[in-house]
Amino acid sequence: MAEIGANVARVRARIAEAALRSGRRPEGVLLVAVTKGVGIDRIREGVACGLHELGENRVQEAREKVPLVPGVAWHLIGNLQRNKVKEALRLFQVIHSIDTPGLAEEISRRAPAEGAGGPVDVLVQVNISGEAQKHGASPEETQALVAGVLRLPGVRVRGLMGMAPQVEVPEDARPFFRRLREIRDRVREAVPAPGLTHLSMGMTDDFEVAVEEGATMVRIGRALFA
Ligand SMILES: *Cc1c(COP(=O)(O)O)cnc(C)c1O
Repeated sequence: MAEIGANVARVRARIAEAALRSGRRPEGVLLVAVTKGVGIDRIREGVACGLHELGENRVQEAREKVPLVPGVAWHLIGNLQRNKVKEALRLFQVIHSIDTPGLAEEISRRAPAEGAGGPVDVLVQVNISGEAQKHGASPEETQALVAGVLRLPGVRVRGLMGMAPQVEVPEDARPFFRRLREIRDRVREAVPAPGLTHLSMGMTDDFEVAVEEGATMVRIGRALFA
């Protein structure tokens, strides 16, 4: 308990310092604790230590865990296949990985039947690193994708998600995070999409740089649970 509690406190302090460094309010950054590969007991310890937004990257793993950890918000941060949408809607409150119009349409179509209780909060994932193995819309197709998703009644597009490539030092991730912020700002004006406020970016190795560049959600696993 002491160990996870100390990790949570340390990560929150680092987020707050990074926010203040860039003239932002620490409360403007949501900590999404990534629990992939973490056992239920340790997840519960984390929740007891104040974590209340949890992230999983696979529906299959979440299926086992979500019912055992009630009272928190679950975020799907990994790739979602269309045949898993129905189940994902029962497990997750926020889906970070919209990368095609078809996936967004499937979520919108199924949301009412799965008892989502209103439009589902989603983020559009952008492949900012340009790596072939990474998911996400290309920066060029992001505007059209956001515009399309905005027209769907069953989803509410809240922002963009992205991942920097593996880099030697965190500072090298900065241009990728800055690029995602610029894409959000441009798309928000052009579409227009005033609700496109969130930037889900930053992980254990690079979250402070991401916060400095405007992250409103950081997805952190190892720094909390490893
Ligand atoms: C695993 C994962 C994270 C967290 O990574 P850490 O390096 O453990 O902080 C964040 N985002 C996604 C999409 C992930 O799959």
